[in-house]
Amino acid sequence: MNCTDFLAKLTDYFDGQIESELLQEVKEHLGTCHHCEVVVDTTRKTIAVYQEQQPYDFPEDVQTRLRSAARFRRVARHSTRTARRRSGVWIRSCEHARTA
Ligand SMILES: [Zn+2]
Repeated sequence: MNCTDFLAKLTDYFDGQIESELLQEVKEHLGTCHHCEVVVDTTRKTIAVYQEQQPYDFPEDVQTRLRSAARFRRVARHSTRTARRRSGVWIRSCEHARTA
C-alpha cells in the first residue's frame, strides 16, 4: 500500500468500514509512513474537536444581518427571473412583429 491508496481508504478507516486484510495493510503502511501517520493524527483530532462542539446561536445582530442578506438574495433572484421572463416576452413579440 502506498500513500495514495491509504488516503483513498481514509474515510473507510475512520468509519471502521474496512476489511481485516486491508486493515492490516493500512496498519503496516501507518507503521512506516510518517506523513500518513500525521494525517491520521490530525484527522482524529479534528473529529474530536467537532464532536465536542455544542450548537451555537449567532448573536442577534448577526442573525438579523443573515436574514436580511437571505431576503435580499431571494428578491434579487426573483427580479432576475422576472426580468428574463419579461425580456423573453418582448423578444417573442418583436419576432412576431417581424414575421407578421
Ligand atoms: Zn503514506
